Amino acid sequence: MTELDLAGRAVRPANIFCIGRNYAAHAAELGNPVEEEPLVFLKPTSALLPEGQAIVLPAFSSDVHYEAELVLLIGESGNDIAEGDALSHVAGYGLGLDLTCRDVQNAAKARGLPWAKGKGFRGAACVSSFVPAREVADPGRLTFTLDINGERRQTGDTSHMLFPPARLIAYLSSVFGLSAGDLVYTGTPAGVAALKPGDALALELPDLVQASWQVAR
Ligand code: ZN
Repeated sequence: MTELDLAGRAVRPANIFCIGRNYAAHAAELGNPVEEEPLVFLKPTSALLPEGQAIVLPAFSSDVHYEAELVLLIGESGNDIAEGDALSHVAGYGLGLDLTCRDVQNAAKARGLPWAKGKGFRGAACVSSFVPAREVADPGRLTFTLDINGERRQTGDTSHMLFPPARLIAYLSSVFGLSAGDLVYTGTPAGVAALKPGDALALELPDLVQASWQVAR
């Protein structure tokens, strides 16, 4: 199993929670409504793809989108965590790509079916290494970027999240419970589009996280 890297320490991944439509501008670009409570879906741990490994576009899709996201690594388990205490449950912060077969997802949405294939295929959860939570003063005020082939494609400002990290942790812990090793992909800002063979992707959280991947040719 792929292990996570928390400042050089190996951490075994548990559940992978993902949040959809957490930035109004991204919900709008896909023609989706803004949700009244967090929209949650999951990926299997077999989807994890550490930085530096090749992204292999699945043969069953011709429209694989990137979605750059802030990722929380949970360090302390809990159920019904209070929002005011939520950030103390975070062990580290990283970045990831919620890769999405948009054609497969749209076909599933049209028929009211689950998103597991389009969102959970092998390699669909690109993940960086994590910086310890103590090094991040306020996760609600972070800016992260995605460049592809040297061109800026996405800029995320976590203050624009509809449900900020502490609220997501409180919500997830109340519904599912959270465990050490769980990951939370917190949603993507506007600017998603399809990947092409050979694309070079670089994610950055300035001074904290840098990670890159290349799409296989
Ligand atoms: Zn996403």
